[in-house]
Amino acid sequence: MNKDKDALQALQKYFGYSSFRHEQSAIIRQVLNKKDVLALMPTGGGKSLCYQLPAVIFDGITIVISPLIALMKDQVDNLNVNGIPAAFLNSSQNPDEQLKLTKQLRENKIKLLYLAPERLYNNDGKLIGFLKTLNICLFAIDEAHCISHWGHDFRPEYLALASLKTDFPGVPVIALTATADALTKKDILDKLKLHQPEIYISSFNRDNITYRVNRKKDSFKQLLAFLDEHKEEAGIIYCLSRKSTELLAVNLKQYGYKAAAYHAGLDHELKAKNQEEFLRDDLKIIVATIAFGMGINKSNVRYVVHMDLPKNIEGYYQETGRAGRDGLPSEALLLYSPADAMKLRQFAMIENNPEQSQIMLNKLNDMVHFCELQACRRQFLLKYFGEDFPANCNSCDFCLTEYTRFDGTLIAQKALSAVVRLKENFGINYLIDFLRGSKSDKIWASHKELKTYGIGAEISKNDWLSYFNELITMGYLQPTDGAYPVLKLTPQSLIVLKGEQKVAFIEREVIDNHKPTASLPYEIELFAELKNIRKEIAFNENLPPYVILSDATLIEIATYLPQNLDELRQISGFGDVKLARYGRDFLLPVVNYCQLNNLTSKITLKAPKRERKASNPNKITDTATESFNMYKSGKSIADIAAFRGLSPNTIEGHLTQFIFTGELDVSIFVTEDKIQPIKEAIESYGPETLSPLKEVLGDDFSYAEIKAVIAWMRKQGSI
Ligand code: ADP
Ligand code: ZN
Repeated sequence: MNKDKDALQALQKYFGYSSFRHEQSAIIRQVLNKKDVLALMPTGGGKSLCYQLPAVIFDGITIVISPLIALMKDQVDNLNVNGIPAAFLNSSQNPDEQLKLTKQLRENKIKLLYLAPERLYNNDGKLIGFLKTLNICLFAIDEAHCISHWGHDFRPEYLALASLKTDFPGVPVIALTATADALTKKDILDKLKLHQPEIYISSFNRDNITYRVNRKKDSFKQLLAFLDEHKEEAGIIYCLSRKSTELLAVNLKQYGYKAAAYHAGLDHELKAKNQEEFLRDDLKIIVATIAFGMGINKSNVRYVVHMDLPKNIEGYYQETGRAGRDGLPSEALLLYSPADAMKLRQFAMIENNPEQSQIMLNKLNDMVHFCELQACRRQFLLKYFGEDFPANCNSCDFCLTEYTRFDGTLIAQKALSAVVRLKENFGINYLIDFLRGSKSDKIWASHKELKTYGIGAEISKNDWLSYFNELITMGYLQPTDGAYPVLKLTPQSLIVLKGEQKVAFIEREVIDNHKPTASLPYEIELFAELKNIRKEIAFNENLPPYVILSDATLIEIATYLPQNLDELRQISGFGDVKLARYGRDFLLPVVNYCQLNNLTSKITLKAPKRERKASNPNKITDTATESFNMYKSGKSIADIAAFRGLSPNTIEGHLTQFIFTGELDVSIFVTEDKIQPIKEAIESYGPETLSPLKEVLGDDFSYAEIKAVIAWMRKQGSI
């Protein structure tokens, strides 16, 4: 119970959030109780907080195992900006830097240490030996599926983590991943030897992402139309081939978009540059192969476009999941053509491995099924991951679209008779050529004699592809497994052939009700201004802008228009340290904007972010009185501290309370020259929380000095 309260307070103080998402709360409770945990959460679900929050509460060090340097750096930046001391061990650090870090660790000055798995056990176990001398409170294994052969991203380095539980028997381990089927899950538990683990599986639903699949016609034109509605926003565009990423990036640049390519074949520096510029919002669009994305924590990616068909649902879901980590409405668009599916079928064949090939083909077929679907896409995706969901999500193209259908019984009958005539022995392409009366030699001479040959010549090849796929989706045809599936009839096909059932096809031209991104009533101009300010700060601090504050936070500011720091504190994403560091920078433009436009604060419309402790700051506690009595009897602060087993800081804190009562003078604690700057800081930030004050005042000022001035100002009635 108490731990829950501590966790909520820390959430507010360090991260500026008012409530937990998904299973975060339960997971964190378990970790704080030193239990082993496996947490499955979707990309963007908020896994990091599950170990970062316990890490700030524990009095020792949390070790985070993470596979990618880029990811570690991002997380460390994020933590540092929130005032949480974190670092990573990295091969690029020189001995001096390593020595400094070692010292900080020994002195328990680091809360989170990020490590690549291969570092942990190399060098004759020296590092492990060193870690054993530290006060390690928690191990967090990020991307835990990497330990399993069954996962899609096996990394042998992860296997070394098997010894963790033996080397650190009492230290809890939390394993986290966004992708784990039953086999991988079991593998993670077994390999890490987790002790009576609690397993948490969050819903994989990403409700701020709208899923759309459009038939690919003129893909570049379709893309431009889409981008036209997302001009100022950041997005990732995935292509299948390296060449097409480069080509597309060039084309987009010609249309004025800030775009660059990213694929594994580019040289290291260029890749790093493009990625960095994207993270920093200098580049709006990354056109990439799937090599791009893992380790990209950029929270304000507003859309993900797939120009080509992904190979499986797992990949598609992970890639689309990179949109909207900040929780704001985001788009996933896939341009689908049945021809792409054909192409991929050939790639799916793995030589001399029919079993693996079959798995890949089945996965591809599921992907095709998803694209051809005439039902809620979200429901399909979640069902794929084993979750139930109602049939209308209201945020996929199917749910947002009014479809018009036409009677396609005749077309269906033509298609089905062709299947019958060709004895259920041929695939879609052959059937279409046959129906269209192709003169090609590929069509058997005997087939050219049949009555059905050429009865569908008036329908284009592409339309036939769609009709066939619709017939499959509706269950009138059944493709066989394998690289070259042939179409078989089903019991329903016979009913259609007999004319006992009509078939309705969907009109290609459909009406999409969806207005581009649900319009939040925020001040758009102000939002743009706030983004510029963020960019400037980010540039000065050499950090990506989203690390400073998320888009969601800026939009909240532009919605609720806070007029002072107390109001700003109620905006989600402002922890104490961020408030102290950046609060004023963001407040000033809001106040000006409101004056110019005759607007006032709307902060009261916002649900209260947190309850502040209602304790009376002027009430003196018994323990403070005890310290004061000892002080009066002539003991020094150090003596009192030693005698009472408390820190000198605490004793000073006790004594400053007697400034308020007038029994002690402020000058005992603070020299004259320091009073004024402290007073100014208190006037700006308020006396409620000390850490922002300490943050702005810097190392030259102690907590006791700040507390003394607060008490003194209270006595004067100036606060
Ligand atoms: P994951 O690692 O699961 O992909 P992250 O840990 O990067 O997701 O979290 C995604 C985003 O959600 C981050 O910007 C994070 O700050 C934010 N977030 C996490 N938990 C909360 C919360 N309880 N309230 C508000 N935002 C949160
Ligand atoms: Zn839907």
